[in-house]
Amino acid sequence: MKIVDVLIERKIQSLNRPFSYVVKDDALIEVGERVLVPFNNKNIVGYVINVTKSDKSIAELEKEFGYKLFEVRKIIDEKPLLTPELILLANEIKNYYLAPYISILQAMLPLSLKPTSSSLKGPKIAYEYFVKIVSDNEDNLTPKQIELLRLVKNNGEVNKKDIKSPSILKKLIDNNHLQIIKKEKKRLVINATKEQKNFVLTNEQNQAIESVLHSKQNVTLLQGITGCGKTEIYLSLAEKVIETGKNVLILVPEISLTPIMVNNVYSRFNEKVAILHSGLTNAERYDEYRKILNKEVNVVVGTRSAIFAPLDNIGLIIIDEEHSESYKQDNLPYYHAREVAIMRSKINNAKVLLGSATPSFESKTKAMKGIYNFIKIDKRINKLKLPETLIVDMSKSMNLSRDSYLFSKPLISAINEALARKEQIILLLNRRGYSTYVSCRKCGHIFKCPNCDIALTYHKNDKMLKCHHCGHVELMSEYCPECGSNYIAYTGFGSEKIVSEVNRLFPSARVLRLDSDVSEVRGNIKKAIASFSNYEADILVGTQMIAKGHDFPRVTLVGIVLADVGLSLPSFRSSERVFQLITQAIGRSGRSDLSGKAIIQTYLPNHYSILLASKQNYDAFFNYEMRIRHIQQYPPFSFLLSIEVSAKNEEYVILAANDIVNNLNSKLQDEATILGPVAPYFAYQNNTYKRLILIKYKNSDKIKQEINKLLETFKFNNVVNVKINVDPYDF
Ligand code: ADP
Ligand code: ZN
Ligand code: ZN
Repeated sequence: MKIVDVLIERKIQSLNRPFSYVVKDDALIEVGERVLVPFNNKNIVGYVINVTKSDKSIAELEKEFGYKLFEVRKIIDEKPLLTPELILLANEIKNYYLAPYISILQAMLPLSLKPTSSSLKGPKIAYEYFVKIVSDNEDNLTPKQIELLRLVKNNGEVNKKDIKSPSILKKLIDNNHLQIIKKEKKRLVINATKEQKNFVLTNEQNQAIESVLHSKQNVTLLQGITGCGKTEIYLSLAEKVIETGKNVLILVPEISLTPIMVNNVYSRFNEKVAILHSGLTNAERYDEYRKILNKEVNVVVGTRSAIFAPLDNIGLIIIDEEHSESYKQDNLPYYHAREVAIMRSKINNAKVLLGSATPSFESKTKAMKGIYNFIKIDKRINKLKLPETLIVDMSKSMNLSRDSYLFSKPLISAINEALARKEQIILLLNRRGYSTYVSCRKCGHIFKCPNCDIALTYHKNDKMLKCHHCGHVELMSEYCPECGSNYIAYTGFGSEKIVSEVNRLFPSARVLRLDSDVSEVRGNIKKAIASFSNYEADILVGTQMIAKGHDFPRVTLVGIVLADVGLSLPSFRSSERVFQLITQAIGRSGRSDLSGKAIIQTYLPNHYSILLASKQNYDAFFNYEMRIRHIQQYPPFSFLLSIEVSAKNEEYVILAANDIVNNLNSKLQDEATILGPVAPYFAYQNNTYKRLILIKYKNSDKIKQEINKLLETFKFNNVVNVKINVDPYDF
């Protein structure tokens, strides 16, 4: 008999311990492989963390263990999936993030990655499944079903993987509204155009590269203004590191938004590149994964989870736009790719380069303290000037246009001028939908979400009302549900409304929209970006998606339709987010020899985030905001940790949460501030009640010790579940 200790694939604290199973002596089984095991009358996937041999009989063993020992049903993997280095990393992550071990293993291995023995041997045909419309008759369908039906109708064929709710899809297939079609899938093909540019690096670029390679600190922060040539620094540096026989990992916030980065990496390093992100199909992902395991590549480019790529011999990890929120996972194990990168660099003795025009406060502070090496580049390539920016106060009547309440006089004339010169324009409004507030003019009824009690947003494209908090949808009705009148007022505006306004004011301009509604369908982002790059449109309208690292040389005007969006959100990060967004957006203008302009419309023209972003003055913003953070003792002046307590029974949650707070208060009153328990935004979801506790602290050792003790006490508690989020982004 072999006794196999297995971690069950459930991220619940009470299951955060191994369960024992047995296999026959001759079974080939190794630590690091996945198995199918019976658990509570179901077969579920588990992860082998220990194998021992025993000469005892099953009966003797069961007596010793005190429970029935089941046999492993199936060994899923042929060989261990994680390298010894990744196992080491998993332990470090566990110590830092205090997360259930299985949740870390799951984060490291994309769930869909199921290398069966056949796929290990070589490529076979992969298929993709698309959803097609059969009938668009909406009678007797629920709003959620109609939402999906309209999505498919508006987009033609939709990849099945993009459909968020399999149960709604199944209903629509069962009642003959939709059908699935199967198509042969081409494996990942990147049509990287060969790089033509072969420029000489600038002095700033060369100095940055030398500094990363030779600094005594392993981590370097590169604070470089938009358009200073950071990408070229990354690529040249990667080349140098590869020449020394080491490998390079490059993380980007979102691949579909920055296809240029992937293209550049491909053309520079030819076939020696693997790419990992959530947009890949399972087959593609597996191919890429296998290329890395087989040591066929020197470079891996990917999004957050690519930090776990099984790349060996890493010499350099680059994190582009290191301030990006997308690097923090928003469920267990709640890791941040930047912190994991630093852990991984220590194991490999590798360098880390963090790059951004607007570094995170955490990184900037460490750079200022000398913990990180620091490089600053203030000059744009070719001494290009920053775009000329104009802040337009929308409360001043002289700025307002007779023709439009959304676009000011200066913005309208700037758009006309750019159109006349055949240049391109980006219009940013960080809010999607058509109208963010729908009400009845007669009785004053407001169309609100029944779950959240906030106003619903009208989406014109599929004529539905949607809640941007919880995803509730309903059909837009022409009549007021209260009084039956048809005087419906649409106020408040989102990106869809901007498109209509552009069509109305500039009828001959070609307009494209890019926001998360559009990008719900795979490939749409890529299409929009390619088409704008090829000058098939004059104006690109969208949310924060259009502010990211794009390099559209023909764009000479960026208009921020309402900069105030987001400033009033209840988060200590709201000013920082708005500053980053405006800075990034303005940076899209004037990136070639055409000089650029940016117009910022706002009702708060003197707000420091807006004023300083308009000047692209990160350092002044940092100093100002740091004073506020200091007074309120927010990060980076303190650390945060949040505890989510949940259970099916509200009373138990409240009792447990209060217990935890009392307990922590008695032990940590000198080291930490403990806030809560509070009911979170979604205090009741999926039949589960939740409470949140927040801890602010300066020194983590004692805090983490106490949290570990706390987790111990919940280990055998099947009623109340506890989740820890170390360094939560918001709370
Ligand atoms: P950032 O990421 O810092 O905003 P990019 O890396 O996109 O800036 O570079 C801005 C532009 O400058 C790109 O079009 C890039 O091809 C170009 N560029 C970069 N380095 C050089 C160089 N040494 N000489 C000429 N052009 C360069
Ligand atoms: Zn009414
Ligand atoms: Zn809601």
